[in-house]
Amino acid sequence: MIVLTNAKILNTEGELVDANIWMEEGVIRRITNREEAAPAGAEVHDIEGKFVSAGFIDMHVHLREPGFEHKETIATGTHSAAKGGFTTIACMPNTRPVTDTSETVQLILDKAKQEGYVKVLPYGSITKSELGRELTDFVALKNAGVVGFTDDGVGVQNAQMMKDAMNWAKELGMPVIAHCEDDSLVKGAAVTDGEFARKHGLKGIPNESEAIHVGRDVLLAEATGVHYHVCHVSTEQSVRLIRQAKQFGVKVTAEICPHHLLLSDEDIPGLDANWKMNPPLRSPRDVEACIEALVDGTIDIVVTDHAPHSEEEKAKGMELAPFGIVGLETAFPLLYTKFVATGKWPLSLLVNRMTSDPARTFGLNTGRLEEGAPADITVIDLETEHKVNPDEFLTKGRNTPFTDWSLKGWPVKTFVDGRLVWSK
Ligand SMILES: [Zn+2]
Repeated sequence: MIVLTNAKILNTEGELVDANIWMEEGVIRRITNREEAAPAGAEVHDIEGKFVSAGFIDMHVHLREPGFEHKETIATGTHSAAKGGFTTIACMPNTRPVTDTSETVQLILDKAKQEGYVKVLPYGSITKSELGRELTDFVALKNAGVVGFTDDGVGVQNAQMMKDAMNWAKELGMPVIAHCEDDSLVKGAAVTDGEFARKHGLKGIPNESEAIHVGRDVLLAEATGVHYHVCHVSTEQSVRLIRQAKQFGVKVTAEICPHHLLLSDEDIPGLDANWKMNPPLRSPRDVEACIEALVDGTIDIVVTDHAPHSEEEKAKGMELAPFGIVGLETAFPLLYTKFVATGKWPLSLLVNRMTSDPARTFGLNTGRLEEGAPADITVIDLETEHKVNPDEFLTKGRNTPFTDWSLKGWPVKTFVDGRLVWSK
């Protein structure tokens, strides 16, 4: 038995209250009031009034293994996740080989079991090698243990291919997760079609390159009845289409990354590829629409799109460097500091979007701080300010635009199935 004493937890009204938490055999056994003594022989951690949440869930992570171990491995990526307070992460299939066979799924699950710090849920790709030409074997991938199908990193360009994928996924009771991007509109651009692109004479990625796929796919989701999930929403148009589809009863859910809630293209300081990600940072108006959508539930969950790259790769500059930034270790402190500590959002909103909402969206048995739930728990210091320092990251990636941001809300302990997997 492990007992956390002097914890603060959210009650059902969203207020912080004192509690002790008893964990045994991987399960939350009891949540008691602060006065109740721990049972004899328990391992007691006095956490001195810190906040305890269900462990965070990140449904969009690039672990890079197999194939790109110089960027990240399952060991380093899950260690980074644990430090960020995440206890469950879903990993994208754009590895090498692409996660398009049961063998590769099995390899990831085996590695995660042997070397991982947190729970890992692999996605399988929609098309073989994510080339958009031929569907993968959804039955084999489902049986191997994938949590859904996605070609993340690229959009599925052909509407009939997407419809076939949705029909098959629907039959299997699995979700289709879409990176929404119409290649014919993007033309190799690196940043959004906006102020920054004009100022620096760069080609731009237009907003509608994302929204056109969202619009097409919500119609296909309506036709097929599949659970359709939109990756990393970044534009006002996408929000509008998702909101309308939800009103029409389409089974659509959506996710957003912290950087699309906190930064616009007007914040990009120069041609630094640590500000390059896909989708790119959009206009302030898009940011406002995305914030509103997360608050009103049009966007269901927060994800990081954690995308580590080596320093050499990112040093190639804005136009040539690969897309993506790391996110696991800064997600909660960023959103807590900028939205909760400033009084804009209740703490419960942020916590729900990172725990119970992803669990509900993907049917996961975790994400709740309740007696009988898995003891996936994160302990957070809501008070101490600390600057983001990439040299302290556990991920191999140093590619973040948030260096030197002074933040609160840093995780200090993470438990997975009642096991302490990371401690400050
Ligand atoms: Zn993507």
